[in-house]
Amino acid sequence: MVPRAAHCISRKQIDEETLKVMYRLHRNGFKAYLVGGGVRDLLLGRRPKDFDVGTDATPNQVKNLFRNCFLVGRRFRLAHVRFGRDKVVEVATFRRKPAVGEMPEDPEDHFRFQENVFGSPCEDAFRRDFTINALFYDINSFSIIDYVGGLEDLAARRLRVIGEPVERFTEDPVRMLRALEFCARLDFSLDAEARQGIYRAAPLIADAAPARIREELMELFRHGVAGAVLRHAAAMGLLEPLLAGYAGDEETFDLLEHLDRRTRGGLPVVEPFALAALSLSRFLRACPPNREAPVTEVVRLAGLVLAPHCGYFSIARAISHQARELLVGIYRLARGRRQRGERRLLGNPMTPHALDLLGCWSEVTGDYRDLVGQWRAALDGKAPVSTPPPDAPAKRRRR
Ligand code: ATP
Ligand code: MG
Repeated sequence: MVPRAAHCISRKQIDEETLKVMYRLHRNGFKAYLVGGGVRDLLLGRRPKDFDVGTDATPNQVKNLFRNCFLVGRRFRLAHVRFGRDKVVEVATFRRKPAVGEMPEDPEDHFRFQENVFGSPCEDAFRRDFTINALFYDINSFSIIDYVGGLEDLAARRLRVIGEPVERFTEDPVRMLRALEFCARLDFSLDAEARQGIYRAAPLIADAAPARIREELMELFRHGVAGAVLRHAAAMGLLEPLLAGYAGDEETFDLLEHLDRRTRGGLPVVEPFALAALSLSRFLRACPPNREAPVTEVVRLAGLVLAPHCGYFSIARAISHQARELLVGIYRLARGRRQRGERRLLGNPMTPHALDLLGCWSEVTGDYRDLVGQWRAALDGKAPVSTPPPDAPAKRRRR
Protein backbone atom coordinates (compact mmCIF):
# COMPACT_ATOMS: atom_id res chain seq x y z
CA MET A 1 0.00 0.00 0.00
CA VAL A 2 1.41 3.36 -1.00
CA PRO A 3 -0.11 6.28 0.95
CA ARG A 4 -1.33 9.46 -0.66
CA ALA A 5 1.83 11.44 0.07
CA ALA A 6 4.08 8.91 -1.65
CA HIS A 7 2.52 8.73 -5.13
CA CYS A 8 1.62 11.17 -7.86
CA ILE A 9 -2.08 10.45 -8.44
CA SER A 10 -4.40 13.27 -7.45
CA ARG A 11 -8.17 13.33 -7.67
CA LYS A 12 -7.96 16.29 -10.04
CA GLN A 13 -6.74 13.89 -12.73
CA ILE A 14 -9.85 11.73 -12.46
CA ASP A 15 -12.94 12.85 -14.28
CA GLU A 16 -15.90 14.18 -12.36
CA GLU A 17 -18.33 11.39 -13.28
CA THR A 18 -15.95 8.62 -12.25
CA LEU A 19 -15.35 10.39 -8.93
CA LYS A 20 -19.13 10.74 -8.40
CA VAL A 21 -19.60 7.01 -8.92
CA MET A 22 -16.73 6.15 -6.60
CA TYR A 23 -17.90 8.49 -3.86
CA ARG A 24 -21.44 7.15 -3.95
CA LEU A 25 -20.22 3.56 -3.72
CA HIS A 26 -17.99 4.55 -0.83
CA ARG A 27 -20.76 6.47 0.99
CA ASN A 28 -22.90 3.36 0.78
CA GLY A 29 -20.32 1.22 2.48
CA PHE A 30 -18.73 -0.38 -0.58
CA LYS A 31 -15.12 -0.37 -1.67
CA ALA A 32 -14.45 1.80 -4.70
CA TYR A 33 -11.12 1.52 -6.49
CA LEU A 34 -9.87 2.93 -9.72
CA VAL A 35 -8.52 -0.14 -11.52
CA GLY A 36 -6.55 -1.26 -14.55
CA GLY A 37 -5.16 0.92 -17.30
CA GLY A 38 -6.31 4.21 -15.74
CA VAL A 39 -4.09 3.79 -12.66
CA ARG A 40 -1.18 2.57 -14.79
CA ASP A 41 -1.41 5.56 -17.13
CA LEU A 42 -1.74 8.13 -14.33
CA LEU A 43 1.33 6.71 -12.62
CA LEU A 44 3.24 6.95 -15.90
CA GLY A 45 2.14 10.55 -16.35
CA ARG A 46 0.03 9.63 -19.39
CA ARG A 47 -3.56 10.59 -20.07
CA PRO A 48 -5.76 7.54 -19.53
CA LYS A 49 -8.15 6.61 -22.32
CA ASP A 50 -10.83 5.86 -19.76
CA PHE A 51 -11.27 5.03 -16.10
CA ASP A 52 -12.67 1.77 -14.80
CA VAL A 53 -14.02 1.30 -11.31
CA GLY A 54 -13.72 -1.88 -9.23
CA THR A 55 -15.99 -2.52 -6.28
CA ASP A 56 -17.15 -5.21 -3.89
CA ALA A 57 -20.79 -4.26 -4.63
CA THR A 58 -22.48 -6.83 -6.89
CA PRO A 59 -23.77 -5.62 -10.27
CA ASN A 60 -27.31 -5.56 -8.84
CA GLN A 61 -26.20 -3.55 -5.83
CA VAL A 62 -24.55 -1.06 -8.17
CA LYS A 63 -27.73 -0.90 -10.22
CA ASN A 64 -29.75 -0.10 -7.10
CA LEU A 65 -27.45 2.81 -6.26
CA PHE A 66 -27.69 4.58 -9.62
CA ARG A 67 -30.85 5.46 -11.50
CA ASN A 68 -28.92 5.68 -14.76
CA CYS A 69 -27.27 2.27 -14.46
CA PHE A 70 -27.49 -0.62 -16.93
CA LEU A 71 -26.09 -4.09 -16.56
CA VAL A 72 -24.26 -5.20 -19.67
CA GLY A 73 -22.11 -8.08 -20.90
CA ARG A 74 -23.29 -11.60 -21.30
CA ARG A 75 -19.94 -13.16 -20.45
CA PHE A 76 -18.53 -10.51 -18.18
CA ARG A 77 -21.36 -8.85 -16.23
CA LEU A 78 -20.63 -5.16 -15.76
CA ALA A 79 -22.53 -2.12 -14.60
CA HIS A 80 -22.55 0.91 -16.88
CA VAL A 81 -23.44 4.14 -15.14
CA ARG A 82 -24.49 6.66 -17.75
CA PHE A 83 -24.10 10.42 -17.64
CA GLY A 84 -25.72 12.51 -20.33
CA ARG A 85 -25.72 11.15 -23.85
CA ASP A 86 -22.34 9.56 -24.20
CA LYS A 87 -20.44 9.38 -20.93
CA VAL A 88 -20.35 5.93 -19.34
CA VAL A 89 -18.50 4.86 -16.21
CA GLU A 90 -17.83 1.14 -16.15
CA VAL A 91 -18.11 -0.53 -12.76
CA ALA A 92 -16.95 -4.13 -12.32
CA THR A 93 -17.34 -6.27 -9.23
CA PHE A 94 -14.09 -7.79 -7.95
CA ARG A 95 -13.68 -11.31 -9.29
CA ARG A 96 -11.61 -14.35 -8.61
CA LYS A 97 -10.60 -17.45 -10.50
CA PRO A 98 -12.96 -20.28 -9.55
CA ALA A 99 -11.53 -23.50 -8.15
CA VAL A 100 -11.65 -26.54 -10.44
CA GLY A 101 -14.37 -28.31 -8.43
CA GLU A 102 -16.58 -25.22 -8.56
CA MET A 103 -17.08 -25.34 -12.31
CA PRO A 104 -20.60 -26.07 -13.56
CA GLU A 105 -21.10 -29.49 -15.14
CA ASP A 106 -21.91 -28.29 -18.62
CA PRO A 107 -18.62 -27.17 -20.30
CA GLU A 108 -20.70 -24.72 -22.36
CA ASP A 109 -21.26 -22.72 -19.16
CA HIS A 110 -17.60 -22.71 -18.07
CA PHE A 111 -16.53 -19.53 -19.75
CA ARG A 112 -19.37 -17.43 -18.39
CA PHE A 113 -19.10 -18.94 -14.94
CA GLN A 114 -15.36 -18.47 -14.83
CA GLU A 115 -15.72 -14.78 -15.59
CA ASN A 116 -18.35 -14.06 -13.00
CA VAL A 117 -17.25 -15.52 -9.68
CA PHE A 118 -16.95 -12.60 -7.30
CA GLY A 119 -13.93 -12.34 -5.03
CA SER A 120 -11.76 -10.09 -2.90
CA PRO A 121 -9.72 -7.15 -4.25
CA CYS A 122 -6.56 -9.22 -3.88
CA GLU A 123 -8.05 -12.11 -5.85
CA ASP A 124 -9.20 -9.61 -8.46
CA ALA A 125 -5.66 -8.28 -8.84
CA PHE A 126 -4.26 -11.78 -9.39
CA ARG A 127 -6.70 -12.64 -12.15
CA ARG A 128 -5.60 -9.67 -14.26
CA ASP A 129 -3.07 -10.03 -17.08
CA PHE A 130 0.04 -7.99 -16.23
CA THR A 131 1.37 -6.56 -12.99
CA ILE A 132 1.20 -2.98 -14.30
CA ASN A 133 -2.50 -3.52 -15.13
CA ALA A 134 -3.38 -4.73 -11.63
CA LEU A 135 -2.80 -1.59 -9.55
CA PHE A 136 -5.68 -0.09 -7.56
CA TYR A 137 -6.31 3.47 -6.39
CA ASP A 138 -8.56 3.52 -3.33
CA ILE A 139 -10.90 6.51 -3.12
CA ASN A 140 -11.30 6.02 0.62
CA SER A 141 -7.64 6.44 1.61
CA PHE A 142 -6.31 7.94 -1.65
CA SER A 143 -3.65 5.26 -1.53
CA ILE A 144 -2.39 2.86 -4.16
CA ILE A 145 -2.79 -0.83 -3.48
CA ASP A 146 -0.30 -3.12 -5.17
CA TYR A 147 -0.82 -6.86 -4.60
CA VAL A 148 1.34 -8.03 -7.49
CA GLY A 149 4.53 -5.94 -7.58
CA GLY A 150 3.22 -3.70 -10.35
CA LEU A 151 4.83 -0.54 -8.98
CA GLU A 152 8.27 -2.09 -9.14
CA ASP A 153 7.68 -3.18 -12.73
CA LEU A 154 6.36 0.26 -13.65
CA ALA A 155 9.54 1.82 -12.26
CA ALA A 156 11.68 -0.69 -14.18
CA ARG A 157 9.50 -0.16 -17.30
CA ARG A 158 9.03 -3.90 -17.56
CA LEU A 159 6.00 -5.92 -18.62
CA ARG A 160 5.55 -8.93 -16.40
CA VAL A 161 2.77 -11.52 -16.48
CA ILE A 162 0.95 -12.22 -13.23
CA GLY A 163 1.60 -15.88 -12.40
CA GLU A 164 3.19 -18.45 -14.67
CA PRO A 165 3.22 -17.06 -18.23
CA VAL A 166 2.52 -20.28 -20.17
CA GLU A 167 -0.37 -21.07 -17.83
CA ARG A 168 -1.81 -17.56 -18.19
CA PHE A 169 -1.32 -17.59 -21.99
CA THR A 170 -2.97 -20.99 -22.26
CA GLU A 171 -5.91 -19.69 -20.22
CA ASP A 172 -6.27 -16.77 -22.63
CA PRO A 173 -3.91 -16.65 -25.64
CA VAL A 174 -4.93 -13.06 -26.51
CA ARG A 175 -2.75 -11.99 -23.58
CA MET A 176 0.31 -12.73 -25.75
CA LEU A 177 -0.74 -10.11 -28.26
CA ARG A 178 -1.65 -7.69 -25.47
CA ALA A 179 1.81 -8.18 -23.96
CA LEU A 180 3.48 -7.05 -27.18
CA GLU A 181 0.96 -4.23 -27.54
CA PHE A 182 1.63 -2.75 -24.10
CA CYS A 183 5.41 -3.04 -24.58
CA ALA A 184 5.13 -1.06 -27.80
CA ARG A 185 2.63 1.48 -26.48
CA LEU A 186 4.46 2.20 -23.26
CA ASP A 187 7.99 1.55 -24.52
CA PHE A 188 8.44 -1.18 -21.92
CA SER A 189 10.65 -4.23 -22.13
CA LEU A 190 9.15 -7.68 -22.11
CA ASP A 191 10.18 -9.62 -19.05
CA ALA A 192 12.33 -12.69 -19.88
CA GLU A 193 9.79 -15.21 -18.56
CA ALA A 194 6.98 -13.61 -20.53
CA ARG A 195 9.15 -13.70 -23.67
CA GLN A 196 9.90 -17.37 -23.19
CA GLY A 197 6.21 -17.98 -22.49
CA ILE A 198 5.23 -16.43 -25.82
CA TYR A 199 7.75 -18.56 -27.71
CA ARG A 200 6.27 -21.63 -26.07
CA ALA A 201 2.58 -20.78 -26.27
CA ALA A 202 2.49 -18.87 -29.60
CA PRO A 203 0.61 -21.55 -31.60
CA LEU A 204 -2.27 -21.37 -29.11
CA ILE A 205 -3.29 -17.97 -30.38
CA ALA A 206 -4.86 -19.76 -33.35
CA ASP A 207 -7.51 -21.00 -30.90
CA ALA A 208 -8.49 -17.54 -29.65
CA ALA A 209 -11.85 -16.16 -30.76
CA PRO A 210 -11.22 -14.36 -34.09
CA ALA A 211 -13.56 -11.53 -33.04
CA ARG A 212 -11.29 -10.73 -30.09
CA ILE A 213 -8.13 -10.88 -32.21
CA ARG A 214 -9.75 -8.57 -34.71
CA GLU A 215 -10.53 -6.06 -31.96
CA GLU A 216 -7.00 -6.24 -30.58
CA LEU A 217 -5.58 -5.78 -34.08
CA MET A 218 -7.60 -2.63 -34.60
CA GLU A 219 -6.46 -1.50 -31.16
CA LEU A 220 -2.87 -1.75 -32.47
CA PHE A 221 -3.74 0.53 -35.36
CA ARG A 222 -5.57 2.97 -33.07
CA HIS A 223 -2.56 3.30 -30.85
CA GLY A 224 -0.11 3.54 -33.74
CA VAL A 225 1.83 0.40 -32.83
CA ALA A 226 0.63 -2.07 -35.49
CA GLY A 227 3.94 -2.19 -37.38
CA ALA A 228 6.12 -2.62 -34.31
CA VAL A 229 3.85 -5.22 -32.72
CA LEU A 230 3.30 -7.34 -35.85
CA ARG A 231 7.02 -7.26 -36.64
CA HIS A 232 7.75 -8.37 -33.09
CA ALA A 233 4.99 -11.03 -33.31
CA ALA A 234 6.49 -12.36 -36.56
CA ALA A 235 9.92 -12.66 -34.94
CA MET A 236 8.39 -14.62 -32.06
CA GLY A 237 6.36 -17.04 -34.18
CA LEU A 238 3.10 -15.43 -33.10
CA LEU A 239 2.08 -13.80 -36.37
CA GLU A 240 1.27 -16.85 -38.48
CA PRO A 241 -1.10 -18.46 -35.99
CA LEU A 242 -2.52 -14.99 -35.30
CA LEU A 243 -3.33 -14.10 -38.89
CA ALA A 244 -4.49 -17.47 -40.19
CA GLY A 245 -1.14 -18.38 -41.75
CA TYR A 246 -0.01 -14.96 -42.96
CA ALA A 247 3.69 -14.58 -42.19
CA GLY A 248 4.12 -10.90 -43.02
CA ASP A 249 7.10 -9.34 -44.79
CA GLU A 250 9.50 -6.45 -44.25
CA GLU A 251 7.74 -4.13 -46.70
CA THR A 252 4.42 -4.66 -44.95
CA PHE A 253 5.91 -3.97 -41.53
CA ASP A 254 7.60 -0.84 -42.91
CA LEU A 255 4.31 0.31 -44.41
CA LEU A 256 2.45 -0.28 -41.15
CA GLU A 257 5.10 1.60 -39.20
CA HIS A 258 4.70 4.49 -41.61
CA LEU A 259 0.93 4.46 -41.05
CA ASP A 260 1.54 4.27 -37.29
CA ARG A 261 3.64 7.42 -37.37
CA ARG A 262 0.79 9.17 -39.16
CA THR A 263 -1.72 7.84 -36.63
CA ARG A 264 0.38 9.17 -33.77
CA GLY A 265 0.49 12.47 -35.63
CA GLY A 266 -3.32 12.60 -35.65
CA LEU A 267 -4.31 10.78 -38.86
CA PRO A 268 -6.10 7.61 -37.79
CA VAL A 269 -6.55 4.49 -39.88
CA VAL A 270 -9.93 2.85 -40.43
CA GLU A 271 -10.38 -0.88 -40.83
CA PRO A 272 -10.67 -1.12 -44.66
CA PHE A 273 -7.51 0.96 -44.96
CA ALA A 274 -5.72 -1.24 -42.42
CA LEU A 275 -6.86 -4.35 -44.27
CA ALA A 276 -5.67 -3.02 -47.61
CA ALA A 277 -2.33 -2.04 -46.04
CA LEU A 278 -1.88 -5.51 -44.58
CA SER A 279 -2.55 -7.09 -47.97
CA LEU A 280 -0.89 -4.59 -50.29
CA SER A 281 2.51 -6.19 -50.74
CA ARG A 282 0.98 -9.57 -51.49
CA PHE A 283 -1.51 -7.98 -53.85
CA LEU A 284 1.12 -6.06 -55.81
CA ARG A 285 3.18 -9.22 -56.13
CA ALA A 286 0.15 -11.17 -57.31
CA CYS A 287 -0.73 -8.58 -59.98
CA PRO A 288 0.55 -9.25 -63.50
CA PRO A 289 3.79 -7.27 -63.93
CA ASN A 290 2.88 -5.61 -67.21
CA ARG A 291 -0.21 -4.02 -65.62
CA GLU A 292 -2.34 -5.04 -68.58
CA ALA A 293 -4.80 -7.34 -66.89
CA PRO A 294 -8.40 -6.20 -67.26
CA VAL A 295 -9.84 -4.57 -64.16
CA THR A 296 -12.38 -7.39 -63.67
CA GLU A 297 -9.49 -9.81 -63.34
CA VAL A 298 -7.82 -7.54 -60.78
CA VAL A 299 -11.03 -7.23 -58.78
CA ARG A 300 -11.05 -11.01 -58.52
CA LEU A 301 -7.39 -11.04 -57.52
CA ALA A 302 -7.89 -8.44 -54.80
CA GLY A 303 -10.80 -10.48 -53.45
CA LEU A 304 -8.61 -13.56 -53.45
CA VAL A 305 -5.80 -11.86 -51.54
CA LEU A 306 -8.22 -10.47 -48.94
CA ALA A 307 -10.35 -13.60 -48.60
CA PRO A 308 -8.41 -15.56 -45.97
CA HIS A 309 -8.23 -12.61 -43.58
CA CYS A 310 -11.82 -11.43 -44.17
CA GLY A 311 -13.16 -14.98 -43.90
CA TYR A 312 -11.25 -15.82 -40.73
CA PHE A 313 -12.30 -12.61 -38.98
CA SER A 314 -15.86 -12.61 -40.43
CA ILE A 315 -15.35 -9.08 -41.70
CA ALA A 316 -18.56 -7.46 -42.92
CA ARG A 317 -19.04 -7.24 -46.67
CA ALA A 318 -19.15 -3.43 -46.62
CA ILE A 319 -15.67 -3.30 -45.06
CA SER A 320 -14.03 -5.98 -47.20
CA HIS A 321 -15.60 -4.36 -50.25
CA GLN A 322 -13.95 -1.04 -49.41
CA ALA A 323 -10.60 -2.77 -48.83
CA ARG A 324 -10.93 -4.43 -52.24
CA GLU A 325 -11.79 -1.12 -53.87
CA LEU A 326 -8.67 0.39 -52.34
CA LEU A 327 -6.47 -2.37 -53.77
CA VAL A 328 -8.09 -2.16 -57.19
CA GLY A 329 -7.73 1.63 -57.08
CA ILE A 330 -4.03 1.21 -56.34
CA TYR A 331 -3.66 -1.16 -59.29
CA ARG A 332 -5.31 1.35 -61.59
CA LEU A 333 -3.16 4.21 -60.32
CA ALA A 334 -0.04 2.08 -60.62
CA ARG A 335 -0.85 1.48 -64.30
CA GLY A 336 0.07 5.07 -65.01
CA ARG A 337 -1.65 8.15 -66.36
CA ARG A 338 -3.60 8.57 -69.57
CA GLN A 339 -5.37 5.26 -69.41
CA ARG A 340 -8.89 4.59 -70.58
CA GLY A 341 -11.46 5.67 -68.04
CA GLU A 342 -9.09 8.09 -66.31
CA ARG A 343 -11.83 10.64 -65.68
CA ARG A 344 -13.96 8.07 -63.98
CA LEU A 345 -10.99 6.98 -61.89
CA LEU A 346 -10.32 10.57 -60.84
CA GLY A 347 -13.97 11.03 -59.91
CA ASN A 348 -14.19 7.83 -57.87
CA PRO A 349 -14.48 8.75 -54.17
CA MET A 350 -12.13 5.89 -53.26
CA THR A 351 -9.32 7.13 -55.51
CA PRO A 352 -7.87 9.77 -53.12
CA HIS A 353 -7.66 7.09 -50.43
CA ALA A 354 -6.07 4.59 -52.81
CA LEU A 355 -3.58 7.27 -53.80
CA ASP A 356 -2.95 8.03 -50.15
CA LEU A 357 -2.06 4.40 -49.50
CA LEU A 358 0.00 4.17 -52.69
CA GLY A 359 1.80 7.32 -51.52
CA CYS A 360 2.67 5.63 -48.23
CA TRP A 361 3.86 2.54 -50.09
CA SER A 362 6.00 4.73 -52.30
CA GLU A 363 7.47 6.48 -49.23
CA VAL A 364 8.64 3.20 -47.73
CA THR A 365 9.68 1.33 -50.89
CA GLY A 366 10.71 4.13 -53.24
CA ASP A 367 8.43 2.67 -55.95
CA TYR A 368 5.97 4.79 -57.97
CA ARG A 369 7.39 8.09 -56.69
CA ASP A 370 6.93 10.07 -59.91
CA LEU A 371 3.59 8.52 -60.61
CA VAL A 372 2.27 9.40 -57.16
CA GLY A 373 3.34 13.00 -57.77
CA GLN A 374 1.57 13.07 -61.12
CA TRP A 375 -1.64 11.63 -59.73
CA ARG A 376 -1.57 14.06 -56.82
CA ALA A 377 -1.31 16.92 -59.26
CA ALA A 378 -4.17 15.50 -61.32
CA LEU A 379 -6.34 15.07 -58.25
CA ASP A 380 -5.30 18.37 -56.73
CA GLY A 381 -8.25 20.25 -55.35
CA LYS A 382 -10.63 17.38 -56.07
CA ALA A 383 -10.45 15.71 -52.69
CA PRO A 384 -8.48 15.88 -49.47
CA VAL A 385 -5.72 13.33 -49.08
CA SER A 386 -6.67 11.67 -45.87
CA THR A 387 -8.00 8.38 -44.67
CA PRO A 388 -11.77 7.94 -44.43
CA PRO A 389 -13.45 9.18 -41.21
CA PRO A 390 -12.35 7.26 -38.11
CA ASP A 391 -14.36 4.43 -36.61
CA ALA A 392 -16.01 5.21 -33.32
CA PRO A 393 -13.37 4.21 -30.75
CA ALA A 394 -14.55 0.85 -29.51
CA LYS A 395 -14.01 -0.43 -26.07
CA ARG A 396 -12.39 -3.81 -26.07
CA ARG A 397 -14.29 -6.81 -24.93
CA ARG A 398 -12.60 -8.60 -22.13
CA ARG A 399 -13.36 -12.07 -23.39
P1 ATP B 1 -6.24 0.57 -22.47
O1 ATP B 1 -5.46 1.81 -22.23
O2 ATP B 1 -5.95 -0.06 -23.78
O3 ATP B 1 -7.70 0.68 -22.20
P2 ATP B 1 -6.33 -1.22 -20.26
O4 ATP B 1 -5.25 -1.76 -19.37
O5 ATP B 1 -7.37 -0.40 -19.61
O6 ATP B 1 -5.62 -0.47 -21.42
P3 ATP B 1 -8.44 -2.93 -21.17
O7 ATP B 1 -8.46 -3.85 -22.32
O8 ATP B 1 -9.33 -1.74 -21.18
O9 ATP B 1 -6.93 -2.47 -20.98
O10 ATP B 1 -8.71 -3.82 -19.88
C1 ATP B 1 -8.88 -3.25 -18.59
C2 ATP B 1 -8.18 -4.11 -17.55
O11 ATP B 1 -8.76 -5.41 -17.51
C3 ATP B 1 -6.69 -4.35 -17.80
O12 ATP B 1 -5.91 -3.29 -17.28
C4 ATP B 1 -6.45 -5.66 -17.09
O13 ATP B 1 -6.27 -5.47 -15.71
C5 ATP B 1 -7.76 -6.40 -17.29
N1 ATP B 1 -7.73 -7.28 -18.48
C6 ATP B 1 -8.06 -6.95 -19.74
N2 ATP B 1 -7.93 -8.00 -20.57
C7 ATP B 1 -7.51 -9.03 -19.80
C8 ATP B 1 -7.20 -10.39 -20.06
N3 ATP B 1 -7.29 -10.89 -21.29
N4 ATP B 1 -6.81 -11.15 -19.03
C9 ATP B 1 -6.72 -10.67 -17.77
N5 ATP B 1 -7.00 -9.40 -17.47
C10 ATP B 1 -7.39 -8.58 -18.46
MG1 MG C 1 -9.11 0.42 -20.62
